[in-house]
Amino acid sequence: MHCWTIIAAGGKGLRIALPGSTRPKQFLAFMGRPLFWHAALPFTRTARMRGLVFVFPEPFLEEAQTLLSPLMAAEAPGLPWQCVAGGESRRESVGRGLAALPAACDTVLVHDAARPFVNECLVNTVLDALEGGASAVIPGIPVTDTVKRVDETGRVLETPARDRLRAVQTPQGFCLTRLQAAHAEAATRGLDATDDAMLLEMLGETVLVVPGQESNRKITTPEDLNLLREREKATRPRPDFIPRTGFGYDVHRYNGPRPLVLGGIPIPTEITVQAHSDGDTLLHALTDALLGCLGQGDIGGIFPDTDPTLEGISSGIMLAEVMQRVERAGLILCHADLTIVAQTPKIAPHREAIRRNIAALLGLPPEQVNLKATTEERLGFTGEKLGIKAYAVVSALAAVSRETGGEEGR
Ligand code: MG
Repeated sequence: MHCWTIIAAGGKGLRIALPGSTRPKQFLAFMGRPLFWHAALPFTRTARMRGLVFVFPEPFLEEAQTLLSPLMAAEAPGLPWQCVAGGESRRESVGRGLAALPAACDTVLVHDAARPFVNECLVNTVLDALEGGASAVIPGIPVTDTVKRVDETGRVLETPARDRLRAVQTPQGFCLTRLQAAHAEAATRGLDATDDAMLLEMLGETVLVVPGQESNRKITTPEDLNLLREREKATRPRPDFIPRTGFGYDVHRYNGPRPLVLGGIPIPTEITVQAHSDGDTLLHALTDALLGCLGQGDIGGIFPDTDPTLEGISSGIMLAEVMQRVERAGLILCHADLTIVAQTPKIAPHREAIRRNIAALLGLPPEQVNLKATTEERLGFTGEKLGIKAYAVVSALAAVSRETGGEEGR
């Protein structure tokens, strides 16, 4: 068997001409390649295929050739191919493809470029049947809808038995001499057909139906374009990173045993805080925000205030331990936004020192850390100078494994 494939891309595709576009549908981009390329690719990956002939509408022939050259060179190197201009009808277009086949060719598959979901398995099913001795082979699938034959006014003439009906697809495979004879006869009689098998049927030839594939859909209507978009979305690679956000909140009561420390910076003031650790409210909120990004609970779960060894511990040490978890998880910190809420002391004189120290602790440039301070207008416990609170929001990027689709470092 010396088999070539004709990719019939000669149609004008007017039913789904895109707004503002005059190009036929087979030129539509799907996953970055023209539709006709997806329709052709499985044939280039079939061992028994010796070459391809593409049929395009005359005005698009040059453009198609330019698009095809690098694709064929990259994905089907060495496989012979050529482009020819189509005719007025489908029969004429396929006829021109037949005329371009080399003399050694004895078997031909004809495939419609509007069927981009064809696969190697279906191509081989058709080839197997041809090798088994059939001279005309077409894939078909059982019809699930009840089909009516109607007259021109829409009146039902008959309801054919559904179990004997098949919706047929391409690729259709033929003994070349038989298909050429059918085309010659149809040209003489001026007959056209919606598929090549029909021409052989008109001549009384036997045509064999082999199982087709539901997925081998034809892109015909604008709705079918949605199918393409869904497939494209489903096969689009996931991004390497996905964003994460963590939030933290902390409160400490004033008048305790610890001198006031905020963001690792000792604040020169009479104010003291109650705490098991050093009571750095801002670093506690920040640590919780980091744990939020990690999805690893909260600071109290990792450093319980009932643990006597943590008595008076520097909050910078706790933060450093959580930063090691950030590193192990492959989390990339992007930005921290922090707010201190206190009636007293005044934060403004220390703001820059705190911001820079936090940036250093997080390993971020200072411009990726923002620090705000506010009072609560003498309202509530901060307004009554009974304590201090802080909020922190941290954004980060988490690595996503392409293989599993899951996130790394959980
Ligand atoms: Mg705390």
